[in-house]
Amino acid sequence: MQAASVKVVFKDLPLHSVTNEEVLEVVKEYCKVSSEVKYANLWFEGKMTSVRNGDCFIYIPVTEVSKLPAVLEISGSCSRVFKPPNLTICKRCSNQGHHPTDPKCPARTTDVIIEMLETF
Ligand SMILES: [Zn+2]
Repeated sequence: MQAASVKVVFKDLPLHSVTNEEVLEVVKEYCKVSSEVKYANLWFEGKMTSVRNGDCFIYIPVTEVSKLPAVLEISGSCSRVFKPPNLTICKRCSNQGHHPTDPKCPARTTDVIIEMLETF
């Protein structure tokens, strides 16, 4: 099953002196990625402009996110790494947003049946 991906934001990178390739290269030393480097734009009066706000982001598999440090050095610049808060990852099915004991876990039902069979 394909695990979900989350958006991880990289702040404080200089806009024109760090390339997408340099960012990806550093991030890939720590974890797998699910997307290219994307850029966030400034919002003005409720509309998104074409002006970049300096942040870039990458979608990263939820199971990989914990491998990333909170600060990364990319081409001599320090970038603060912002991961989504309260990231709950199910150890049973690797999906985001529930615990292994949660009845909505798609992998739970089959495991419970197997556990029941093993007790007989
Ligand atoms: Zn689960």
